[in-house]
Amino acid sequence: MRRYHVTTFGCQMNAHDSERIKGMLEELGLGEAASPDDADVVVFNTCTIREKPDQKLAAYMGEAAARKREDPDRVIALGGCFAEAQRERIFELYPAVDVAFGPGSIAHLGDWLGAGGVGVARGRFGLDDRDFAAELPTRNERSFQAWVQVSMGCNSKCSYCIVPAVRGREQSRRPGEILAEVQRLADSGVRELTLLGQNVNSWGRDLLPDIRTEFGELLRACDRVDGIDRIRFTSPHPKDFRDPVIEAIAECAAVCEHVHLPLQSGSSRLLKAMRRTYTRERYIELAEKMRAAIPDLALGTDIIVGFPGETEQDFLETLEVVEHVGYDSAFTFVYSPRNGTEAAALPNQVPHELKIERMERLVELVQRIARERNEARVGRSEEVLVEGPSRTDASVLRGRTRRNTAVNFTGEALAGELVEVRIEAATSMTLRGSQRALVAV
Ligand code: SF4
Repeated sequence: MRRYHVTTFGCQMNAHDSERIKGMLEELGLGEAASPDDADVVVFNTCTIREKPDQKLAAYMGEAAARKREDPDRVIALGGCFAEAQRERIFELYPAVDVAFGPGSIAHLGDWLGAGGVGVARGRFGLDDRDFAAELPTRNERSFQAWVQVSMGCNSKCSYCIVPAVRGREQSRRPGEILAEVQRLADSGVRELTLLGQNVNSWGRDLLPDIRTEFGELLRACDRVDGIDRIRFTSPHPKDFRDPVIEAIAECAAVCEHVHLPLQSGSSRLLKAMRRTYTRERYIELAEKMRAAIPDLALGTDIIVGFPGETEQDFLETLEVVEHVGYDSAFTFVYSPRNGTEAAALPNQVPHELKIERMERLVELVQRIARERNEARVGRSEEVLVEGPSRTDASVLRGRTRRNTAVNFTGEALAGELVEVRIEAATSMTLRGSQRALVAV
């Protein structure tokens, strides 16, 4: 049996796409290899959101070229956002690559392999004629959890972001297709869904005039599917959180009390330069409205440090919002200019040392607040979806609360089970506890 190996870079959407690549390759009769060394088909599903993934890929491609020299029959395949961004010169850049495809053309890999590379274009890219990866067979990493792609692309124009240039405009899947997939997943034993889109909460807008719907209705429809105990979604945009979505989160039993609400900056002046389309005041108002409507809500966020022109005052305003909103978790990024984005050409690029100094102050604040919020969970019971043994200590189990906090706990449960855990200790990232009972569903 020929074997494949997939290396995934970047976001949840890429993690989803890689599950589809694996499903497609297994449908072609290939088996998974433990490492690229043992694989006949070596696939890289790439990211280009920052400089770092590009650099990492270059190292991987060096190794891949060496393997190709050892065994010329080995197939090197490159997909994802970097491939799309570099579509004009990808084979010049990496001559060892046999076949390449954009995020909207994953099925092309199967076509190329199926034809043994004969009579099929070496690369397929483009943002006009895209296919939903969700239409391909999948190979879920876990039998009880699944990603469900509800849309692709993004219509926003955040000045630092390369996504619209590599994933195209927003295109929503039709509700019937999504619900049919959700029903199939529930029938196959999936208990937790994550609805996926670059701008997930603007889902449905482009289905007009045929279909008049919105993301809140989709959450409610998924909530009505028996067997689905938990529903999550990512990545939303603050500008698209309308009342029906907030009400659906508050009222649907399966929709978890966790929302990722990217802030990016606490300075309205910088938010304007980022083209985020909301102000600091509007963002705080939205966060407070959500907290009021959704009991026990956990808020996560994304923050960029060192955006061009960021002054000490702008940065202090970011720290103020972090303190005011009080996040349970935060992804913090040092601004990285991306060729082809508006922000990369802006004046007043912030010196690297200053970015790092500010990043350290931000991380310290974020971790202090997250630790305080997690410490407030000590003594409480949390419903936990068991994922398996802890990564660091096989004698304890690991899982996640509905508020998306990782929990390591002692107990006897199987992966995929819902259990009640009494919380006994906390850090800024995790909770620790002991199992009390299985959760009856
Ligand atoms: S909303 Fe902005 S940051 Fe997010 S994918 Fe779209 S353009 Fe990029």
